[in-house]
Amino acid sequence: MADLAVEYLPPSALKDLLQKNQNAYRSGSIFADSGYAANHAYGEFSHWHDFLNQYQQTLIERCPDPGATENCAKVWAHFFGTVAHALSDNNFDRYFVPQVAAHDFNVNAVLKLLLFRRSESSLFFSPSLIRTDHFLSSSAV
Ligand SMILES: [Zn+2]
Repeated sequence: MADLAVEYLPPSALKDLLQKNQNAYRSGSIFADSGYAANHAYGEFSHWHDFLNQYQQTLIERCPDPGATENCAKVWAHFFGTVAHALSDNNFDRYFVPQVAAHDFNVNAVLKLLLFRRSESSLFFSPSLIRTDHFLSSSAV
């Protein structure tokens, strides 16, 4: 889904950044779930808005110009990959899982799991919190 999102972007500094740093972007898009594979707590908290907002704030402080250095461009691309993952999971959990539950599994058990998971965290990351002003000018990258 992360790759598809880049395809749908209009020509822009953001699209250029993500295409030029595709490995970092893709790494970000699987980063959150790597915590589950490593059985580490970051697998869960890196999916949520507190982490994503702090990640963004750190980048704004340390790399205010995403195109200033090669490393800044890579970490911004990684950040956007992480955001793409969180948004994809949000839609997957909200729309796809209930459909699978309704058609293929015990609906009540799956819905209980989803409700438990949502009660564990302060809900979803809001994409409106992402500042895009860094990417609106073509000189940003
Ligand atoms: Zn995930």
